[in-house]
Amino acid sequence: MPRRGEALIEDHEFPGGIMADKSIIIIGAGVAGLAAGCYAQMNGYRSRIFELHSLPGGLCTAWERKGYVFDGCIHYLFGSGEGQPFNRMWQELGAIQDRRMISHDEYQRITDGEQTLIVYADPDRLEKHMIALSPEDAPLIRAFCAGVRRFTRFDMSLMYARPKAMMNLLDWGQLGLKMLPFLEPLLRWALVPAKDFAARFKSPFLRRAVAHMFSWEEAPVMMGMALLAYIHTGNAAFPAGGSLEFARALERRYLALGGEIRYEAQVEKILTENGRATGVRLYNDEVHTADVVISAADGRGTIFDMLGGEYANAGLRRRYDGHLAMHSQVQISLGVRRDMSAEPHWVTHLLPEPVLVIGEERSEVGVKHYCFDPGLAPEGCSVLEVMIRSSYSYWQRIYGRKSYDAEQHQVSGIVIDLLEQWHPGIRADIEFTDEATPLSYERYTGNWQGATSGWLLTRATMPMLLRGVSKTLPGLRNFYMAGHWVEPGGMVPLAAASGRNAIQMICHADGKPFRAQVPS
Ligand SMILES: Cc1cc2nc3c(=O)[nH]c(=O)nc-3n(C[C@H](O)[C@H](O)[C@H](O)COP(=O)(O)OP(=O)(O)OC[C@H]3O[C@@H](n4cnc5c(N)ncnc54)[C@H](O)[C@@H]3O)c2cc1C
Repeated sequence: MPRRGEALIEDHEFPGGIMADKSIIIIGAGVAGLAAGCYAQMNGYRSRIFELHSLPGGLCTAWERKGYVFDGCIHYLFGSGEGQPFNRMWQELGAIQDRRMISHDEYQRITDGEQTLIVYADPDRLEKHMIALSPEDAPLIRAFCAGVRRFTRFDMSLMYARPKAMMNLLDWGQLGLKMLPFLEPLLRWALVPAKDFAARFKSPFLRRAVAHMFSWEEAPVMMGMALLAYIHTGNAAFPAGGSLEFARALERRYLALGGEIRYEAQVEKILTENGRATGVRLYNDEVHTADVVISAADGRGTIFDMLGGEYANAGLRRRYDGHLAMHSQVQISLGVRRDMSAEPHWVTHLLPEPVLVIGEERSEVGVKHYCFDPGLAPEGCSVLEVMIRSSYSYWQRIYGRKSYDAEQHQVSGIVIDLLEQWHPGIRADIEFTDEATPLSYERYTGNWQGATSGWLLTRATMPMLLRGVSKTLPGLRNFYMAGHWVEPGGMVPLAAASGRNAIQMICHADGKPFRAQVPS
């Protein structure tokens, strides 16, 4: 029952009037929440999503400024290739129909100004190129490229086809058989961080460059291999229109299936009764009841704020005590009155001398342009983006003071000084500068410390990915979690797959088969 001041919104007020068997409340309209909503509707449940922001997508977003669209998320979308892993799920979610997918031959370039590593996605080309750069590293390069070749046949989506909690011994055995051809590269590369791999090179240039090949130095080499393999097979492309357009397609599918989204509706509490989730209370004190609650919002906020820590055991407290790596960043986005389309789309510059940026000495800066999607900038103009890893606490200490704004401008100033060296005269062409800090990510999406992908995939979290993370909480029935806090490594396909898995579990608990259809 609602307490004084609370307004009870009965769950029979769900729209559509369909006499479905259960009502589901979903917290968060990110990719996981929207996917959970779509599959809930496909399976005859009445669902309603509460989202704190005014837009769908969560982290899968973009923002428009003066005719420039600054993309804040997808660089590569696993499942972009027809008939390839995760593609069917995106079809079911209506996310990729009629959407042009933009593939690249090269993932990025890494240069110290004298030598350049072109990270070709094609393992044959990459092998030839890297051996030409450093013949003495040929055995290591061949082993790496052999791994990339092997992963072109890797169907990662098999690991998410069924919730791990529902898998019996036979299912694990069948999955193990399918994974058998990848056992050797898995054992060899799954726990090797990029920086340790880089240290094995004899070439001083490759030792520096390879450490930055996959965005963060702790990234397991296996992850990088799978990424290159999928780029090569056309299954990790950029969806034309960008991340917000992609999220809007999911939103359209959900609404077409009869779902309802309440924007600017932040959940304050998940309500429970006798060890059962019964609904949510919003910050405006409205109470909404449902048979099942799925939280597709920040993991820490869900367990320790919305549920007050009541269902957290020692394992969960340990997981969220801050010892696991996360990735927070500053994104500097620039609208530039200059056509950069002839330039490589992503270049990481290894600096001759470290530069102090955001309180840390940086030895490399990556610059990306989006001219491959002309819809993101006015004609003849370009969007440039620079992402710099940054701790949350650095920004939190100065938030609300003048120094917060000053520091943001200082970072973009340093970035523009560097760009001026690589692209002389560019300063005069900059029409718009936008800075996003870890606090911006936290404010807009509620993610703990502004994390961009939940738990960062590292040697420590790789076993969590392989084993799977529980989507339920001990002692709490009718409650599920979805999203990148229960799928280590994050990524939009894993977020969506976790929403799908949550509904599979609910169907299973109700003793009915799970249904998923591609819209006609
Ligand atoms: C810069 C960047 C680059 C990335 N690049 C890629 C890439 O190339 N490929 C890829 O696959 N992935 C990429 N990712 C990762 C990917 O975006 C995320 O892992 C994925 O979008 C997570 O989705 P989610 O639904 O789990 O969480 P979120 O996107 O965080 O969604 C959670 C939603 O819940 C809402 N919410 C939170 N608290 C509440 C509350 N109390 N009440 C109501 N609503 C609430 C939030 O507003 C949000 O909309 C990138 C992310 C970033 C930031």
